[in-house]
Amino acid sequence: MKCQRLLIIAVSSLCSMNACSQTQEPNVISIEKADSIPSAVEIPSGAKALSATYPDFIKGYSDGSLTLSNGEKIIYDDKTQKSFVEQMDNADIEDMFTQPYDTSVWTPSRNYDPGRIRNEELLKFMYGKTSQEVSRNLVKVKWFNQQLPFTKVNGAADSLRAVEKELASLPEKYHKYFYQSSTYNWRKVRGSDRLSAHSYGMTIDICTKYSDFWRWKNPGKEETDEITYVNRIPKEIIRIFEKHGFISGARWYHYDTMHFEFRPDLIHYSRKTK
Ligand SMILES: [Zn+2]
Repeated sequence: MKCQRLLIIAVSSLCSMNACSQTQEPNVISIEKADSIPSAVEIPSGAKALSATYPDFIKGYSDGSLTLSNGEKIIYDDKTQKSFVEQMDNADIEDMFTQPYDTSVWTPSRNYDPGRIRNEELLKFMYGKTSQEVSRNLVKVKWFNQQLPFTKVNGAADSLRAVEKELASLPEKYHKYFYQSSTYNWRKVRGSDRLSAHSYGMTIDICTKYSDFWRWKNPGKEETDEITYVNRIPKEIIRIFEKHGFISGARWYHYDTMHFEFRPDLIHYSRKTK
């Protein structure tokens, strides 16, 4: 009985975040059978974070999979042990949350790259599977003296507008960081076969002149090698992006300090699991 109560709480909290309807039949059936299926009680924190932040696309979680808004499922945990690089090359949903995004850490430890582990299937489902599909969701966002394409999906463009507005109110000495920025670009991550977050239209690189990228500073080094951390982007700028659901590449051991990526799932997850 205790087990049943736990499941009801867990399912209803996921539903309330997701505004899901009474049509969640698989979960209802699981509640009734909870004593015989104890594992059904656990809804992973990552699934809750995705459901809370991407309610248009995540319908629920059952039997170890996320249920998408089109009824298809994505396996949450493939139960495969992976190295750091393998996680990035072949991430399941669970892998996306193995490194919580800790806003109290300014000097990342070895291979601490929260947000670089991305499940491509989920991101393509939300933002588009091809450059043509992603392009259909792009709108223009005023960014200081530029108009930049950014996806309207998940409220990303509105969040970037809110970032610009708040950054504009910073003292003049900060403004040099905002010019010559770039956003959408369907391409692979430099030096790998992974699709860059810029491909989805929810990522911005601010001024490269004052930015540092680990590959520029360490030519010839691999992701498994030791490097020295560098960042020149002020904390005030990073905090404003984070307030509006963006993660910063300045938080990564493999630093990419110009890079800000709309990932409210990871920000939400990290606040909830602190
Ligand atoms: Zn970038």
